[in-house]
Amino acid sequence: CIACVHRYSNVIVISKRTMLKHSINHIMNKKVMDRYMRLPSPCNKVLATYVWIDGSGINMRCKDRILNCVPCCADAAPPWAFDGSSTGQASTDDSDTKLQPAAVYRDPFRMEPHVLVLSEVYVGDKNEPAKTNFRKFCNDLCDKHKDEEPWFGLEQECTMLDVDGWGLGWPKGGGFPAVKYQFSYCGVGAKYIAGRDISEAHAKACLYAGLDFEGTNAEVMFGCWEWQIGTTVGIKAPDDLWMSRYIMARVAEDYGVDVTYHPKPMGMLHPGVGMHHNFSTKRMRSDGGYAFIEECIKKLEKNHMKHMCQYGADEATNRMRLSGKFETSPFDKFSWGIANRKASIRLQRNIKEKGKGFMEDRRPAGDCDPYRVCGLLMETCLGDGSG
Ligand code: ADP
Ligand code: MN
Ligand code: MN
Ligand code: MN
Ligand code: MN
Repeated sequence: CIACVHRYSNVIVISKRTMLKHSINHIMNKKVMDRYMRLPSPCNKVLATYVWIDGSGINMRCKDRILNCVPCCADAAPPWAFDGSSTGQASTDDSDTKLQPAAVYRDPFRMEPHVLVLSEVYVGDKNEPAKTNFRKFCNDLCDKHKDEEPWFGLEQECTMLDVDGWGLGWPKGGGFPAVKYQFSYCGVGAKYIAGRDISEAHAKACLYAGLDFEGTNAEVMFGCWEWQIGTTVGIKAPDDLWMSRYIMARVAEDYGVDVTYHPKPMGMLHPGVGMHHNFSTKRMRSDGGYAFIEECIKKLEKNHMKHMCQYGADEATNRMRLSGKFETSPFDKFSWGIANRKASIRLQRNIKEKGKGFMEDRRPAGDCDPYRVCGLLMETCLGDGSG
């Protein structure tokens, strides 16, 4: 009967979700929006956006509340709660999930005095870290090894997609960019790069927020970009990296663009997306540090496979990226080398000459959790080497 057909086709429409063809966000009139954004806030009202990592371990969520004064630090921001059953972090019958402020930033979207509050997620009666909360793991190690002064420099690569899921500026209908990829790396010119506005806006917003934001460059694949956080001491590096991902998602909303950290978004014939972790300690940076760096490399080699399964949101996709092609080392095989971009660990040429410096771990995927990777680097290099 017709009613059934309709009901049936309804089900199909609901269940078969297709990709968006257009983004509504960037079509909205930003000039009208600006009229409201310019309204002054009452003097004792501060909008605070609480930001956290959801149950996927890569996507972020946020919600706003009004505070009566500017929180000068995380301890001054009140803890809060949310419905963890809607974020993959709790069951519906036990859904109250806690947000514990970890770091406060200036809000680059509303500007001062408004703030962004990066928060950790805790669940249940026992107040345990949620499954995707690795900040506690990392922060405990930062505390334990604070005399060693761990420094991190993180290179986040990303791919910009149109909302239809295809590469930004890539020919519609599944076409591929005509340019050779060596022209896109640090590329200049409309033929070679796409999405510079987003990278620029993101850089300015990150600096305003107070991140240790260090630089940007266009990446090898058309529509791909990189930014660097650090060199930064301890937990501020992964904190800032996560906040820079949030800011990127918000900026990209304004442009109707989807930013992904998938390690191999366009298949095996195209470059991958990683997050190199540069790491050093006081001993590595002091005279004779080179010997200690070699010692650490040996420990990392011993723990290679243990780390590999934690170096991305999903082991299989990082395996696709670490194919041995496109300046990568094979997933299963640990290697290190001086000035070698095909090694798991690369040391810059001048580090051997100077006899001290830092190491670059090139294995983490674009969608890794830097809390996890920084934590593992400290645990392995500064521990007894067994784990
Ligand atoms: P490349 O693309 O050649 O690997 P980048 O300039 O993108 O290099 O990144 C190098 C990173 O190394 C920067 O993020 C920087 O902060 C970091 N770095 C430099 N010196 C140190 C150090 N002593 N300890 C930790 N990280 C460092
Ligand atoms: Mn509610
Ligand atoms: Mn780089
Ligand atoms: Mn890069
Ligand atoms: Mn690098």
